[in-house]
Amino acid sequence: MNFSPLVLRSISETREWSREIRRSGTLGFVPTMGALHEGHAELMRVAARECGAVAVSIYVNPTQFGPREDLGKYPRTFESDLELCRSVGVKAIFFPSDEIMYPRGRENFTAVEVPGLTTLFEGASRPGHFVGVATVVTKLFGIVVPDVSYFGRKDYQQWLVIKRMTEDLNLGVTLRRVDTVREPDGLAMSSRNRYLSAAERSMALSLSRSLKAVEMALASGETQVKQLEKCMTEVLGDNPGVQLDYARIVNADNLKEQNVVESHIPESAVALIAARVGTTRLIDNLLLPPVSG
Ligand code: AMP
Repeated sequence: MNFSPLVLRSISETREWSREIRRSGTLGFVPTMGALHEGHAELMRVAARECGAVAVSIYVNPTQFGPREDLGKYPRTFESDLELCRSVGVKAIFFPSDEIMYPRGRENFTAVEVPGLTTLFEGASRPGHFVGVATVVTKLFGIVVPDVSYFGRKDYQQWLVIKRMTEDLNLGVTLRRVDTVREPDGLAMSSRNRYLSAAERSMALSLSRSLKAVEMALASGETQVKQLEKCMTEVLGDNPGVQLDYARIVNADNLKEQNVVESHIPESAVALIAARVGTTRLIDNLLLPPVSG
């Protein structure tokens, strides 16, 4: 039986708890914005397998939302989040307020800027988003002081940004990436899926279908990026309710353009997709060629 996780609300008690845990073992950390689902649970399970104890943070970080984004209506489901954390053996949840995280306000904080990577794709569509992400993750690393931190491949560009930042700032945290957890029909799990109506939910499937189409085209010998991108947009084009932001195939390490997918180098490219379904913005991706199995 698992005990209910400790709920830590202050920085000092979190640091103290972390120090105590690290005296006798490794601390794994899963940063989240709550509204937890199986994707988050998988990160926690992997962390629990690999570390002596697991801490989760639940914080809807205001600085990564643009002025016209869904900060106010982002789902907040603390009681069920607590239960999910308990069920997978999480030992502590850092659950801070905005006052604790941004005591000088949301406009007036020391920020972490990762050049290059952050101006593309999500960064182009959501100006300032990655400054908010990089800043809050740096702060969380400084508060929770984990040995290992776990991130989902679902947010592929975010993973690259956090990896670059952790290296560049010598943050001393080992990073682990966990594969995307999907619904049985292929939809990538996301806290934002709960915004979707039944009709939108079925239209949202075109994102994962377009990635499947690319995978099949590559498997049958097509390696030209232009052609593969066309496969994606063709699948998406059938859906009037899906407003495409981007559907691109780029280098998996630096997100730069390339003309062909090196079919003999696993995961050398990534297909990135973002679209609005109704008012909900969804993202998905696939590493190419996928590791077989
Ligand atoms: P969020 O609460 O959306 O900020 O996500 C917290 C962490 O969970 C991030 O590292 C995400 O990449 C990861 N995550 C979200 N959805 C999934 C999913 N479907 N599969 C795997 N990881 C996920």
